[in-house]
Amino acid sequence: MTRRTGPPTTTDSGILAPSDEYSLTVGPSGPIVLHDHYLVQKMQHFNRERVPERVVHAKGSGAHGFFEVTDDARWFTKASFLSKIGKRTPVFARFSAVAGEQGYPDTLRDPRGFALKFYTDQGNFDLVGNNTPVFFMRDPSKFQDFIHSQKRLPDTGLRSNDMQWDYWTLSPESAHQVAILMSDRGTPKSFRHMNGYGSHTFSCINAAGERFWVKYHFKTAQGIENFTASEAEAMAGEDPDFHRRDLSEAIARREAPEWRLEMQVMPFAEAADYRFNPFDLTKVWPHQDYPLIPVGRLVLDRNPANFFAEVEQAGFSPANLVPGTGLSPDRVLMARIFSYHDTHLHRIGANYEQLPINAPRVEVHSYNKEGAMAYHHAGAQPVYAPNSYGGPVADPEAGEDLGWSVASQELGRYAYDLHRDDDDFGQASALVRDVMSNTDRTHLVSNVVNHAGHGVSAAVQERVVAYWTSIDHELGREIERGLLKPPSASPAIGEVAAAPHHS
Ligand code: NDP
Repeated sequence: MTRRTGPPTTTDSGILAPSDEYSLTVGPSGPIVLHDHYLVQKMQHFNRERVPERVVHAKGSGAHGFFEVTDDARWFTKASFLSKIGKRTPVFARFSAVAGEQGYPDTLRDPRGFALKFYTDQGNFDLVGNNTPVFFMRDPSKFQDFIHSQKRLPDTGLRSNDMQWDYWTLSPESAHQVAILMSDRGTPKSFRHMNGYGSHTFSCINAAGERFWVKYHFKTAQGIENFTASEAEAMAGEDPDFHRRDLSEAIARREAPEWRLEMQVMPFAEAADYRFNPFDLTKVWPHQDYPLIPVGRLVLDRNPANFFAEVEQAGFSPANLVPGTGLSPDRVLMARIFSYHDTHLHRIGANYEQLPINAPRVEVHSYNKEGAMAYHHAGAQPVYAPNSYGGPVADPEAGEDLGWSVASQELGRYAYDLHRDDDDFGQASALVRDVMSNTDRTHLVSNVVNHAGHGVSAAVQERVVAYWTSIDHELGREIERGLLKPPSASPAIGEVAAAPHHS
C-alpha cells in the first residue's frame, strides 16, 4: 500500500478532519448522520465554489510580471511609475476571449482582452485593453446590445452568425473593428503573439501642469502570429485550452513573454482641429500623424500559484488611474469607469479590492467600511469626514482630477462631432487597402464568406455585401461572389449555423 504524505487534513476552522474517505454512518450499512459536519461542510463549500463568471471575457488566463521604464516619459507625465528609466513596477496581466463562456475553446474568432494591473507606488493603475486598437462602437449605450448579439439566442441557446451580422451591418461604425476581427488577427496563435492596446484615448499631465492626450500600444516582442481559420478550428477540437496552456507552459519554460510599451502623444490643444475625432473609439491615430514613442517593456515571468484566487478573482477597472494619468471625453471609456467596478461588486463582492490580487501595494486610507468579507479595517479610525479625530484628509493637489474644459452646451443625446476626415468606413478601407498583404485580404474574404455564409438570412447577407463594399468595392464583389456559391459542408466550429432568429 502506498503511504500518503502531506500535512494532516483539517476543516476550514483548522480542526483535524476525521477521514478523507468515509462519512459518518450508523454501522456499515446504516444512514449518514447530519452531524457529520466535515462531510456537510465539504458539500456546502463545494456548492459555493463558483462565483458568477464574467458576463464578458469569461474565459481568461493570467500571469505576473513587471513593467520597466526604458525611455524618458517625464515630458508628458508625472506618473511615478513612469518617472525614471530602469524603474520597475509589479504587474498582473489577464488575457481573455470576449464572447465565449468559461469552457469555450480558446482559439475561435473573437477579440482578445489584454488587461493589466500595475501595482504602482501611487496605487493601482489598470489598463483594461484589447488586442485591437479600436472597438465596435463609439457610444456605450450600444455595448449591451452588441454583446447580446455575440452571445446566445434566447430560445435555442445557440450562438448565431445571423444575429452578429444583423447587428454589425446595422451599426456601420463597427466596420473598422470587424475588418480586424475577420482578418487572421481575429484568431491569434497565442496570447504571446498578439499586441495589446489601451484602445481609448487617455490623458496625461506632466509636473509642469501641461496636459496631453495619449494612446497606449503594447507591441509583442514575440512577433505577431495568427492561426488561419481552419487551423484555429482544428485547434478548438484538439486542445480547447490551447492559449491557456501556451502561456503557462512558456512561462514555466522560462520563456517570459515580453511587450514594448509605445505611446502616441498628442498635445492637448491639437484635439480640437485634428482630422479625426481623437476620442472616437472606432478610430486610430495614424502613425504618420502621431508616431509611436518607446516608453517601456512589460515582461510576464511568473505563473499564478492558484488560478481561482488570482485569475478568476482579479478585478480590473479603467477607473484606476494614478496621478499623472487620466481620462478623456471618450464616452465608452467614461461608461466603463462605472461599469467595471460595478460588475466586480456584483461578481466578487463589496470588498473585492481587499483580495491580495486586487489590493494595492500602498496603504489604503478610505472611508468605505464593512460589507461582506471585510478583512482589512481601519480599527477605531473615524468613519466620517470631516472629523477632528485624526481621520484621513484628502490632498486636493496630489489627488487632482485631470480634466478638460467643456463649452457651455445644451444637454441632449448627440452623435459624435465629425472632424474633417471622419466617416465609418475610411480607416477600415485604409487597413484593407494599404496595410493588409494579398494573403491577408484573401483570408479576410474567405473568413467573411465562411462566417456570413452559415446561418445568415438572405436579407442580412445582402447587407453584409453592402457593408464590405463600403469598405472596399473589390472586396465587396469578392464576398458577394463567395456568398452566392453553395455553402461548404461544415459550418465554422463555435459559429454554429443557427437558424436565423428573425426571418
Ligand atoms: P501604419 O502603416 O503606420 O500602421 C499600420 C499598423 O497596422 C501597424 O501598427 C501594424 O501593427 C498594424 N497591422 C498590420 N497588419 C494588420 C492587420 N491585418 N490587422 C490589423 N492591424 C494590422 O498605418 P496607420 O497608422 O496610418 O494606420 C492604417 C491602418 O492600420 C488603420 O486604419 C488601422 O486599421 C491599422 N492600425 C493602425 C494602428 C495605429 O495606431 N495607427 C494600430 C493598429 C492597426 P503591427 O505592429 O502589429 O504590425
